Amino acid sequence: MLDRADRLAVSVAETGLDSLLVTELTNVRYLTGFAGTNGACLIGPESRVFLTDFRYTERAAAEVEGWSIEIVSGEWLGGLAERLHGRVGIEDDHVTVRTAAKLKEAAPDTVELVEAGGSVEALRRVKDASEIERIAAAAELTDALYNESMERGLIGKTEAEVAAHVVARMREEGAEPSFPPIVASGPNGASPHAEPGPRVIGKGELVTMDMGALLDGYCSDCTRTFATGMLEEEASRIYEITLEANDRALAAVRAGAIASDVDAVARDIIKDAGYGENFGHGLGHGVGLEVHEGPRLGTRSEDVLAVGEVVTIEPGIYVSGLTGVRIEDLVVVGENGIDRNLSSISKALTYVE
Ligand code: ZN
Ligand code: ZN
Repeated sequence: MLDRADRLAVSVAETGLDSLLVTELTNVRYLTGFAGTNGACLIGPESRVFLTDFRYTERAAAEVEGWSIEIVSGEWLGGLAERLHGRVGIEDDHVTVRTAAKLKEAAPDTVELVEAGGSVEALRRVKDASEIERIAAAAELTDALYNESMERGLIGKTEAEVAAHVVARMREEGAEPSFPPIVASGPNGASPHAEPGPRVIGKGELVTMDMGALLDGYCSDCTRTFATGMLEEEASRIYEITLEANDRALAAVRAGAIASDVDAVARDIIKDAGYGENFGHGLGHGVGLEVHEGPRLGTRSEDVLAVGEVVTIEPGIYVSGLTGVRIEDLVVVGENGIDRNLSSISKALTYVE
């Protein structure tokens, strides 16, 4: 198998570029292994140049393999201009207008800067075995903290307290939250991105928790909605509908499936149950070095799922003034279905005191 840089070099050549300048740090890390905060790389059919500044001399030597390392003064721009020739792709979805202008000024007149954003992100969609293991480890930690949160209990605690405990425990385990955890109780659950606040969790409510860990560079993402006692009829009903949408969408995941079709499986179930207006976000997204990356699973996504992609399936129903439910699994796409579901916490409605 070609390594990451080789695969990228092939796509650079295919798009008619002489080289691609990669400046987005997550992409730089993916390609070179460099995890510092100032670095860039230039890749072409024959060149693999990594640029950073003197602060990172040792780090680059330790982390970067298979690239020629150039230490430049100050920003990587300094040592770059003379290396550019012909058509040079830049990550126009990340490069600032100011940096693009500086590049243009510094580069020889014959250089043409071409918009080539998304090239590395496209490669990042499919994970190799070591990446999947790291995502699985982050998911395992998240699941352990779900279990711990259930054991500690929810009733009588504030949302903020429950969230703060999870964050503290992640740090004890050498991880960071991959995004600020969501703990949304009762009516707060009606907002998909509710921030945990001072509300005290009561009895007989739904509590949506959405959290993930960032461990060893890779993210996880999982949502569960718990009940703190007997629920009102509509709350139980939307839970059952959301669970069915989650189950059926999971069954539609396979290599070759069009992302918008998988989204439609869940969306149609929710729509047919009368809650079409209450599922206002996409079905899911890829997860890897970043918690939100490609592919996108939404109503307009033309992405086609491929073996080795790691994606979330997270339908939800949000009823303003009442409550909300979201159930999110993190799965590895396989040839004929899901290869692995990395979320192990039960999805049967679970009562937590
Ligand atoms: Zn999530
Ligand atoms: Zn998610």
